[in-house]
Amino acid sequence: MNRALNFNAGPAMLPEEVLLEANKNWLNFNGTGMAVMELSHRSNEYEEVHEKAQVLLRELLSIPSSYEVLFLQGGASLQFSMVPMNLLTKESTGNYILTGAWSEKAWEEAKKIGQTFISASSKEQEYKSIPNIINEISEDAAYLHITSNNTIYGTQWHHFPSNEKVPLVADMSSDILSRPISMENFDLIYAGAQKNLGPSGVTVVIIKKELLARSNNSLLPTMLNYNTYAKHNSLYNTPPTLSIYLLKLVLEWAVRQGGLEALENKNKEKANILYDAIDSSSHFYVGHADKKNRSKMNVTFNLDNQELANRFLHQAKEEGFIGLNGHRSIGGCRASIYNAMPLEYVHRLAEFMKKFRNLS
Ligand code: PMP
Repeated sequence: MNRALNFNAGPAMLPEEVLLEANKNWLNFNGTGMAVMELSHRSNEYEEVHEKAQVLLRELLSIPSSYEVLFLQGGASLQFSMVPMNLLTKESTGNYILTGAWSEKAWEEAKKIGQTFISASSKEQEYKSIPNIINEISEDAAYLHITSNNTIYGTQWHHFPSNEKVPLVADMSSDILSRPISMENFDLIYAGAQKNLGPSGVTVVIIKKELLARSNNSLLPTMLNYNTYAKHNSLYNTPPTLSIYLLKLVLEWAVRQGGLEALENKNKEKANILYDAIDSSSHFYVGHADKKNRSKMNVTFNLDNQELANRFLHQAKEEGFIGLNGHRSIGGCRASIYNAMPLEYVHRLAEFMKKFRNLS
């Protein structure tokens, strides 16, 4: 089958094997005579899927038993509000490092809930980089929030802050599962699924059990309290069963790929191919991000002027490349190359970039 050369930023392409397996089970999941989304969420068959997805996440990310793995809805955007609602108190401050539009949005939401403080920002550098130093963490900090990969600007944290006194909260929506991480460095990680984990609809939250005590605020609406999900194994109400099933299939695929180290190597190889195409183009293509902070998930670049960029995007579309336009807020071009993106498609894009340059 001819699958699209899909470089969308999210929802993004899923591994073909996963889609084929889902298709095979579409009408009749495990001999039940029902599709997965027709099963009761209280049935043994569904609970097995739910648990397997949690177990696989724990295995792949080496999550210790001192953390809960939760499945929520509302996307990463709801986490922008839930993190401060659950972790901030009247006496404490949410500290934020601004590295792009998504961290700004997280900070904007926190401001509605309580006190905030900007510990560092690369806004003045047009978000081309990740701040080298954290200027200050307020004394009453409840947590420090970072965005591990900046989907729009194409930058990524390669070394995480390690301030043991302050819980570290990370929005990993666009690079979770793309590389091994030391879970112990983080107190809360959240990620919408639609890039590396599966389809949209489920949001994964990994939270240190210690932090749950803080959100024991009975005034919090039930569905906005992490404790509700932890106490009920994310089955307090109906979870997004189909998304969680597909998440399970993606996690099984990730294991078959050799786990996070193998995926990281493949991601490095793919990113290098595109960054080489940019760097060897005698400034025909100009990368947006500073080299030291380049993302291995979202490769952002521009051409000399918008007219040339439009021609590039138009011709790329004619040749079957989907989703290469940059985010509407910054323009230019962006190739999103998450885990599921085959090496071959990346080679084809690099070849197209060379061909377009030679013909221009
Ligand atoms: N954070 C990051 C880093 C993202 O890339 C996105 C979506 N592109 C979001 C948050 C928002 O995610 P959602 O649409 O799941 O709310």
